[in-house]
Amino acid sequence: MKKISLLGSTGSIGVNTLDVVERYPEKFQVCALSAGSNVELFARQIRKFKPTLVALFDVTKIDILKELVADLDVEIISGPEGLVSVASFLDADLVVSGVVGSAGLLPALSALRAGKNLALANKETLVIAGELVLQEAELTNAKVIPIDSEHSAIFQALNGEKPERIKKIILTASGGPFRTFSLKQMENITVKEALNHPNWSMGAKITIDSSTMMNKGLEYIEAKWLFGVNTNVEVIVHAQSIIHSMIEFVDTSIIAQLGIPDMRVPIAYALTYPDRFVSELPSLDLASMSDLTFEAPDLERFPCLQLAMDAMKIGETMPAVLNAANEVAVQAFLEEQIPYKEISEIIRMVMHNHRPVPLKEIQNILDADLWAREESTKIIAVPH
Ligand code: MG
Repeated sequence: MKKISLLGSTGSIGVNTLDVVERYPEKFQVCALSAGSNVELFARQIRKFKPTLVALFDVTKIDILKELVADLDVEIISGPEGLVSVASFLDADLVVSGVVGSAGLLPALSALRAGKNLALANKETLVIAGELVLQEAELTNAKVIPIDSEHSAIFQALNGEKPERIKKIILTASGGPFRTFSLKQMENITVKEALNHPNWSMGAKITIDSSTMMNKGLEYIEAKWLFGVNTNVEVIVHAQSIIHSMIEFVDTSIIAQLGIPDMRVPIAYALTYPDRFVSELPSLDLASMSDLTFEAPDLERFPCLQLAMDAMKIGETMPAVLNAANEVAVQAFLEEQIPYKEISEIIRMVMHNHRPVPLKEIQNILDADLWAREESTKIIAVPH
């Protein structure tokens, strides 16, 4: 029986993780849960999975939650420190992080510090603090198991091979809903259009990131940290999202991982690793696929991808600044404060104004993150 602490249980990754857990009641048990603010769903999950400890990030809703689960024997805590308690919960064998945004960093670090294996869906953890996260994992010998479909694919393709045998990682991208839009068409994109992803069903932030290809940019940085900072990573647009990523080895052999676009597949792999369980999900129907296409990404139409690659190359606090500026800009777009095309412009300006500092401690990242949020907000507030 594997005991699981789940961070971000009411989000898309969290709901899918619980779906997987529910399918194997004899294999998994949920010992701790954390959620953001969706108390109704959270209360239903607590009732169903009976964790010992739960944490709600939104302190203003804690009384509602307490009332909803008043008849249950469960410890309830709130605020950011609640996430850390769930992440380092003593009973847990595996911590799953489906938290959205940089709020996922401190809980991830505390899970690794407690020696827990970490199944990681939260991109920001590695994007903003890859160096520190890996140091922490090495100290306690804890494993970071990727959940993101692309990194799960690379992780699976690498299985048994030496990382130094990698010639390059081929990171596939769906290209998002605007893959075929012209530069002109991209000027008038609405929130509704941007929220309509062709292949994957995800939360609002990551759906916008997919449409700008910032999602792929963040995954590029994540791949560098997971599989070697000096490893060559190439992004290729593959609109059908059937090949989830590939590795080309030094002998030019390429190993790809394919599957249906359903997050429960990589989640189940992270939960069962190094084993695999029988799944009831449908098999990939190869005969029904007329073609699988590949094309180079257009960095002119998708400048966010270039910005992310630049940030990784600059290193130090720059990826944290890229990430924070992107979070603020995407939020401003969702609230219709800025047009779509300004998302990348704001990130570019904030990066331009940043003086990166080396990562000696977590405070360097928190400072850079805060600075970038304030700087982005300032730029957005200026009438233009
Ligand atoms: Mg992905």
